[in-house]
Amino acid sequence: MEKSSGLIFEKSSRGRKAFSLPEAAMPETEIESLIPGKYLRKNLRFPEISELDIVRHFTHLASKNFNVDGNFYPLGSCTMKYNPKVNEDIASMEKFRDIHPMFPEKYVQGILSLLKEMEEMLCRITAMDAFCLYPAAGAHGEFLGMLLIRAYHERKGKIRKKIIVPDSSHGTNPSSVHMAGYEVVSIASDKNGEVDLEALESALDEEVAAFMMTNPNTLGLFESKILEIAEKVHSRGALLYYDGANLNPLLGICRPGDMGFDVVHLNLHKTFSTPHGGGGPGSGPVGVKKHLVPFLPVPVIEEKDGGLILNRQKPQSVGSIKSFFGNVGVIIKAYSYIKALGDEGLKRTGKLSVLNANYLKQKLKGSYHLPFDKTCMHEFVLSAKKQLDSGIHAVDIAKGLIDRGIHPPTVYFPMIVEEAIMIEPTETESKNTLDEFVNTMKEIAGLAAKTPEILKKAPIKMSVKRLDEVQAARVLDVCWNFEKPEDEGQEDG
Ligand SMILES: *Cc1c(COP(=O)(O)O)cnc(C)c1O
Repeated sequence: MEKSSGLIFEKSSRGRKAFSLPEAAMPETEIESLIPGKYLRKNLRFPEISELDIVRHFTHLASKNFNVDGNFYPLGSCTMKYNPKVNEDIASMEKFRDIHPMFPEKYVQGILSLLKEMEEMLCRITAMDAFCLYPAAGAHGEFLGMLLIRAYHERKGKIRKKIIVPDSSHGTNPSSVHMAGYEVVSIASDKNGEVDLEALESALDEEVAAFMMTNPNTLGLFESKILEIAEKVHSRGALLYYDGANLNPLLGICRPGDMGFDVVHLNLHKTFSTPHGGGGPGSGPVGVKKHLVPFLPVPVIEEKDGGLILNRQKPQSVGSIKSFFGNVGVIIKAYSYIKALGDEGLKRTGKLSVLNANYLKQKLKGSYHLPFDKTCMHEFVLSAKKQLDSGIHAVDIAKGLIDRGIHPPTVYFPMIVEEAIMIEPTETESKNTLDEFVNTMKEIAGLAAKTPEILKKAPIKMSVKRLDEVQAARVLDVCWNFEKPEDEGQEDG
């Protein structure tokens, strides 16, 4: 019996309840006598179901989710690594959990000193001079980064209008640039998949406020000319922005601040242990070099009279960018992860993530096209170009993996690789898991060559089969068909 199928509303029986309360001692009152009728919702339906059935329903649904604790999740760019549970325990300790963000500073010296120490640890890891922990995600950090860059140029009396991004950049990069009111200038990558210096040179004019890039780039390749790039950008008075989503392989080995970056954001939920996916919560701290420190958001945690205070008096600050202090739970998890690993552990993290990716790359390059055949960092990009001959696309390979219990790698990104399949194993996987993945990818390449019509039907083992993705994007039908409320004008949840 497939108990979990169907919606909870379909399991509803009139009059069934998940609770039993004692008879009320007060006389019953009609709700309309207490709240005016116009504020009451009509036709608000709840499923009527027993407690046990509710528990079963949601337990079954939860077990249908793909998650990093259940399956291998080689989602390129997203760093879906194992997150040690001890960090969850620490973040949910009563003394952290029960602090209210509006407590006066003198009662929350403990958490303030943790946040301050976290800022300092991130400065050390990245070679920056100060950090702001408030942004809630990488994209939010990018947006703050753009505001800081604008404040810097305005202070110098220059209005610069453009930000350069490589054509391999993550979609949030041009979006953040645009949101901050800048114009996006995209430059092509060279034949090695790196920033094309000539293209950069010719795009760099007096109007350019910054060059925004990630290193290793989204192809998983280290930008070998980074020092030259930094020199060129700075010589034109522009700044260099580091998208730190790809920091994982460099941990403990090299630092964006030493490469010449002026502003960085990190994705704590990728690099520093927080389960992510499904929209958060995350944390995207932003680090800056000295010349940008005055513009950082308020409040700034500062030492005063032997204690810590929240200083809101920063005349050059870009202002407040998040309610209270960011997603503090995520910051505590990252703090505990960094402390547990120590300097040696962080370095090992970086090295193993590179080793694992190169192992997979070498094992798979016979079965799939490898557009850039050189040592990669923590991830690499294959292409399903070879499989195209039999009508198989990257998406078919992805769906085939789902049937075999593996989350698909990132596909169709970066966009500069045709039929891209971007694989990031992370440092936390064992050789056995990597070998199983290699075997599965080879099995799928075999199917693609011999029986593509079977692969085209995947996934067949999941409760949701192959979706019409075009239709799904165009025709939104995400709700169960509730009966229409009688009063059409009324907003009814
Ligand atoms: C994930 C990612 C981002 C955006 O980060 P979010 O935390 O998802 O907002 C930006 N750039 C790159 C390269 C990424 O992988």
